[in-house]
Parts: sequence; C-alpha cells; structure tokens
Amino acid sequence: MRVVVIGSGAGGLTVASNLRKYSKEVEITVFTMEDKVAYSPCAIPYVIGGDIDSFEEIVMHTPEYYGKHGINIVTESEVLEVASSQNLIKYRLINGDESAPELITLKYDYLVIATGGYPFIPPVEGNDLEGVFKVRTIEDGAKIKEWSKTSSKAVIVGAGAIGLELGYGLKQIGIEVSVTEMLPQVLPRSLDPDMALKVQEYLEGQGVRIILNNALTKIVGVDVAEEAVVGDIKMDADLVILSTGVRPSIELAKQAGCNIGDMGVVVNERMETSVSNIYAVGDCVEVHDGITGQKTLSPFGTTAVRQGKVAAKNLAGKDAVFRPVLNSVVSKIGELEVGAVGLTEESAKMNGIEVVVGKSQALTRARYYPGCKPIDTKLICGLDGTILGCQIIAKETVAERVDTMAMAIAKQVKCNEITEMEFSYAPPVSMVVDPAVMAAEDALKKLSS
Ligand SMILES: Cc1cc2nc3c(=O)[nH]c(=O)nc-3n(C[C@H](O)[C@H](O)[C@H](O)COP(=O)(O)OP(=O)(O)OC[C@H]3O[C@@H](n4cnc5c(N)ncnc54)[C@H](O)[C@@H]3O)c2cc1C
Repeated sequence: MRVVVIGSGAGGLTVASNLRKYSKEVEITVFTMEDKVAYSPCAIPYVIGGDIDSFEEIVMHTPEYYGKHGINIVTESEVLEVASSQNLIKYRLINGDESAPELITLKYDYLVIATGGYPFIPPVEGNDLEGVFKVRTIEDGAKIKEWSKTSSKAVIVGAGAIGLELGYGLKQIGIEVSVTEMLPQVLPRSLDPDMALKVQEYLEGQGVRIILNNALTKIVGVDVAEEAVVGDIKMDADLVILSTGVRPSIELAKQAGCNIGDMGVVVNERMETSVSNIYAVGDCVEVHDGITGQKTLSPFGTTAVRQGKVAAKNLAGKDAVFRPVLNSVVSKIGELEVGAVGLTEESAKMNGIEVVVGKSQALTRARYYPGCKPIDTKLICGLDGTILGCQIIAKETVAERVDTMAMAIAKQVKCNEITEMEFSYAPPVSMVVDPAVMAAEDALKKLSS
C-alpha cells in the first residue's frame, strides 16, 4: 500500500510517523514546498525575540532522519495536480527555481491532504515593499530576524497571539514597536474585552504601543517600507509584519473533488474527505465547535497533531475519531501567560446562549510564599451552571489550569462540581482554595440570586 501525504507540517508528519509505527510495510511519501521539515512554527516569535538562540534549535528532525525510518520526504516540491479518478498526483521539484519544468507523476492508494494554511495579506498599497513580512514558515522567521538587525521601528498588524508574541519579542531586542488591530481589543478570538485589557495594559507597561479600532490603510515607501498607515494614524516603520490571520489551503482538495465547506475541507470524524481514499488533516480542514456545534476552524498545532493521529490509525485499519473542538489556547507574551478554552462571554451572546460569569482574583501560590503572583480567572457558565468557557491570565501555571478547565468543559462539569473537586495544595505551588473554585463560587452566587 502506498500512502502519499501532501504537507510536512504538524498534521502531515504526524500522519506519516504514526502510520509508520502501526505498519512497517506501508510505503509513505511526503511532499513539502519547504526545505526544512519538523520544525515548530510556534517557536518563531521566541527566536525573533532572542529567548531561543537560533532557528536551528527549533528544527527537531531532518528529512534524512525520516528517510532512515522509511518515510520518504520530497522537500522543495510542489504538488500541482491531484487526479483522484486515477489515484495519482503530479508534482514538480522547485529547488529555488520557479520555472522548473517537468511534472512528475506518482500513484497512490491513499492520499492525505495536509496543506495547512496561508497567511491572509491585507490587499493594501505597499504590502509588497521590502521590509514587509508575513509570518508562517521558518524561512519567514529567518527573514524577519535578519531584517530586524537593522530595524528601529516596527509595526505589527494584528493583535492575535502571534502578533503580540512578536511585538513583545521585537521590543525585547530594542526595537520601538506598535501593534495595531482593527477590532476594539487585543486577542479578540480568545478573550473577552475585560480580560484583554489586562494583556493590553501589561504590554503598554512594557513600552509596546497598542492601537485598536484601526485597520491597515497602506504602507508607504520607495521600494522599502518607511511608514505604516492604520486608519488615519501614520507611523514610521522600517519593519512591518502582517499577522492578520490564516486561510486554509484548499485548492488541491477542491481539485481532487473533495467537498469544501464554508470554513475548509469537509471531513468526517475519521478525517476522511468526501472522496473515498482521500483524508485531510490540519489547518486546511473545517471542524465543529464542541459547544455550539457550528462549523469553525482550529488552526493550531495541537489540533493538527490530534487529527494526524486519528487519520494514521484509520489508515492502518484501526478505528479512531476526532471530536469537536473547544480550541484550548495558551500564549506567553513577555512574562504573562494567557490561556483560554471554550466560549467567551461575547461569543456565547453572539450564539444566543445566556450565561453567567464567575471571576476570581487570586494568587498562584500561598499569599506568604515568596514569588506568588496574581492570577485572574474568568469562568463562563450556562444558566444550569455548566461551564462553557474559561480565561486565565497570570505569570505562571496558566496552561495546566486551562487544560483542567478544558476537561471540565468537555465532560460538561457544572460550577458546583468544581467547588467540590479535590484540587491539590502546597504553599510553594498553589493556594489552599484554587482560583477556579473561587470563580465557580462567584458564578454560583449569581446563579442563585
Ligand atoms: C508564528 C506561529 C506561531 C504559532 N503558535 C502556535 C502555538 O503556540 N500553538 C499552537 O497550537 N499552534 C500555533 N501555531 C499554529 C500551528 O503552527 C499550525 O496550526 C500548524 O503548523 C498547522 O499544521 P499543518 O500541518 O496543518 O500545516 P502547515 O504547518 O502549514 O504545513 C503545511 C505543509 O503543506 C505543504 N504544502 C502546501 N501546499 C503544498 C503543495 N501544493 N505541494 C507540496 N506541499 C504543499 C507546505 O509546504 C507545508 O509543508 C502557530 C503558527 C505560527 C505561524
């Protein structure tokens, strides 16, 4: 059996390596347009900011490593055609030469489309000037890092997690930074405005300028970026980073005849597309929200890996399903850890779901223990007390707390059950009453009033 995987990101490589674990016989070929594989895009902002010394450090394996494990990776190759009626793909080798001719044909028994996403570039004047960057691949990251060595003023367009991580990173290496956002708050996808304000104030306290409610109008310069204009605000900028979201790469799936939904490639819970021997995983696919049931995207490395595992098991003749998502996220912006899962208060309202909110302001360790840090917790609960969402901000321990709440939401736990839960305690690592319990008690008070 020959399995062809298009894409060597988190999704594609997880399919390939897991499938190899289950079967020594299956022939696996992976195509990627890049020259590097198995690196962590999530770490790019931290290399740019100098927390990680070099881009080499975020590359976990080479194509040769995979070759030794019987996975053939064809780097710098572009799949141009999927002829699903004949079970074949056509690709060309790029090797830096855009005009490289010759289409090579390869037959498959099963195809996995793991083409990921591409950055949305705002269609404004000047978006192609030198000094204007997107951020998606390790190559993008290396270009930004190199350019930043001679840069003094940066504008980052988009105040999502990546934009803020980059903003802090560039400030850290001595660049004057403005982060701009067309919506009225930072982190609009994962936080409510009250929690987002805490992140904004932290960043402003670190000297990062935040401009909200203004979309990018144009970038001005002769060959090279000199100024970014958002709304009517003009800012000197010799470095502009467009961190304005990701769109799923669906073209090959479309060409193969796979059904495409409003959000991305349509798959069932086994990660099979509508074409019988084609699977799809990662940023290119449409998923369902675990609370509202609506179609959505989950453009996260965690989702791509979980989907890749499911596809690999099913390809190996086992049985696995991918459940609807709660989109747990966590980000480290300077010293601040910011995490969220499930619905925000705003998104619940938009979906017509009535909620109550429980909040707590507590500490990460016992009050008297050196180094204890403030922690803000917000729980969003349905009127029957079921937890639907959670947002947490602190300088430590956020990820594990968000994960606990992700489990609680997935299992439809109610606020009163959180107050009854046995949280562990020792002064150097936690409080005797957990901040989540305090927030649940606050929500219960409102529910009973
Ligand atoms: C800066 C940054 C920070 C991030 N931080 C986080 C984080 O902290 N946590 C988190 O969970 N997620 C994070 N993400 C998101 C995460 O990296 C992505 O969700 C994940 O990489 C998606 O994996 P994927 O396999 O679907 O696609 P990708 O990683 O995009 O891989 C797509 C692959 O498809 C190949 N391809 C596409 N078209 C073709 C073609 N025609 N022919 C051949 N090959 C093709 C590409 O070359 C590539 O190898 C971050 C992303 C970025 C950019």
